This record gives sequence, structure tokens and C-alpha cells, in this order.
Amino acid sequence: MSSLNLPPVPCPKCGERQNVSNGASDPDGATFDVSCMVCGHAFTRVEFKMEIAVVLQEPPKGMAKDAAARLRAGNKNPRDV
Ligand SMILES: [Zn+2]
Repeated sequence: MSSLNLPPVPCPKCGERQNVSNGASDPDGATFDVSCMVCGHAFTRVEFKMEIAVVLQEPPKGMAKDAAARLRAGNKNPRDV
């Protein structure tokens, strides 16, 4: 069981960011079970990884763009956090 704390990712089917993780949201873990709360789409590991990569490039909500840029500048591998 991992202690990943990943942000919700947009559903490839309906675009909503309402993920339901059944305790297994690590796409590299032994088990992976994340689905969309809105349309019920079950994410594949590949889908989830692709979406999470995009999400992690975006500034968090409420954070000014320059602040996010400064954060990124000090962290060459934001995906590896
Ligand atoms: Zn959906």
C-alpha cells in the first residue's frame, strides 16, 4: 500500500475530476482501482498516468502562476515528488 497523495485527474470520458479510489490509487502499485464518480469510468493505469502527468504540470488552484513557476524552478522533477 503506497502513501501517494495524488490530485484527482480529469476523466477521459466525461472530463470531471471526481475520482473514486478504492484504496489503490498508485498506478505502479500491485493493485490499482480508480474510477470516475460521475460516469463510472474505470481508469486504466496508462490513462491515469497520462492524466496525472498533465495535472502535475498545472499550478495548484489558488496559486499564482509566478509562484507555481518559482516552485517548479526549484524542482526539476515535479513528477517525482
Ligand atoms: Zn467520468
